[in-house]
Amino acid sequence: MRIDRITASVIRYPLPRPLRPSWAPGREFGSTTCTLLEVTTDDGVVGYGAAPDTGQIGLATISDMVAPYALGKDPFQVEEISPILRNAARDGSYPWGFETALWDIIGKAAGMPAYRLWGAHKRRIRAYASLAELTSVEEQVERLSALKALGFTAAKLRLRRPSIREDIAFVEGVRSAVGDSMELMVDANQAHVMPSPGPHNFWRFEDALAVARAMQDLGVVWLEEPLHRYDYGGLARLCDAVDIPIAGGELNLGLHEYKLLIDRGCYDIIQADCAFSEGVFQLRKVAALAELAYKRFIPHTWSNGVGLAANLQLAAATPNCDWFEFPIDPPAWTPAARDFMLDRPFEVDADGYIAVGDAPGMGMEFDREAVAPYVVATWDSREAAS
Ligand SMILES: [Mg+2]
Repeated sequence: MRIDRITASVIRYPLPRPLRPSWAPGREFGSTTCTLLEVTTDDGVVGYGAAPDTGQIGLATISDMVAPYALGKDPFQVEEISPILRNAARDGSYPWGFETALWDIIGKAAGMPAYRLWGAHKRRIRAYASLAELTSVEEQVERLSALKALGFTAAKLRLRRPSIREDIAFVEGVRSAVGDSMELMVDANQAHVMPSPGPHNFWRFEDALAVARAMQDLGVVWLEEPLHRYDYGGLARLCDAVDIPIAGGELNLGLHEYKLLIDRGCYDIIQADCAFSEGVFQLRKVAALAELAYKRFIPHTWSNGVGLAANLQLAAATPNCDWFEFPIDPPAWTPAARDFMLDRPFEVDADGYIAVGDAPGMGMEFDREAVAPYVVATWDSREAAS
């Protein structure tokens, strides 16, 4: 079997309402953008992958840095192709969706979902609703009650208000309204912010420590990204100083950064993402390092439906993964908008668990017709060669 054709398409899909995520202060998103990858073999097997919102950079990464060296290769030779992606990641942007497409092909050829080929651990995982926007307590409580009605038993709230005093008062308000009826995580998103108007200020160690102590008292499940991504010393100090688990690592890059984070004790929970961090099978090596260090590996999943599907396969084959991030924050970020490229959106069941699909490959059915109206640019290796 050989890789015969690669296409990459930038897709811009309008959101039902503008999204104002905490990680892009002052910016409003009217649409969600991704680069969808379609890899076809000479046997006619098609694998799908996706890169996050990087527009033309994502397209050029595939056309100029991945396709010239991956075309003609056996798609089963994932370890042979991985260095091509790593090299592309240095000069380009997030090529990891290509490995997702390879495993989609391998699973389809084998007639099995990838997680079962990797050694399955579970068929369903407890999901937490991962919210995006900074709201008032009243608005948050309303959103949580709607999520509870959908089956969710846990939710991750955002912290990034002008002061930590306001962030702590917000979580206190939410906790006193919902009591023990929902588990709460919090994400401070202090590792970086997306390109946005700002403000671009970050917490100091003393801020992170004060918030961690307050969250611990409020029975919060974990505190995520309380310090800058590369503040290895501060993160390790914080983990040592508090009992509440510290989570992070969603946008660290490559296996060696994760080894360093684990070796230095920067996080209790490692949150790599196969759309942003490394290829989906390569991240199994990070999950294994975490397992050996008695740490949890719970992937970050905030990109799009294909990224969520691939991270779900990874999570289902990972013994030290006990939660699954489910990005949802209606009315702007709905499962239908997140998963518009799939035949149906992922949902949670009445107990708040997400089931791992039995469909071969990445456990998803891709809907080309649904995507077609939203394609803004395409690169096709076959057209480029003619
Ligand atoms: Mg996060």
